[in-house]
Amino acid sequence: MSDTPASPKRPRRFIAGAVCPKCSEMDRTVMYSNDDGDEVRECISCGYSQTSTEQAAEVAQADGLATELTTRVTPVNGKALLDEDVKPLKILGLDDPKS
Ligand SMILES: [Zn+2]
Repeated sequence: MSDTPASPKRPRRFIAGAVCPKCSEMDRTVMYSNDDGDEVRECISCGYSQTSTEQAAEVAQADGLATELTTRVTPVNGKALLDEDVKPLKILGLDDPKS
């Protein structure tokens, strides 16, 4: 039995409109499947490549960060915290007795 690989050449297809995250070239990204069955995106311009697994992890991380930021910025009860403590500003000086 010979030990030839099942698929010596992998079909690669361009992703229309895809922008390389590294060199920002558009329409230079191809997609193909690697030996692990992962989809790999590779930039033929700069050689940058990323598997779908890595992409998913990155997206998940970005999502987590975005969610965290949103949570921090959004007021807890939707009300400005200063409301209770806001007092009308007195114009200091006018109330002072003349000396
Ligand atoms: Zn690139």
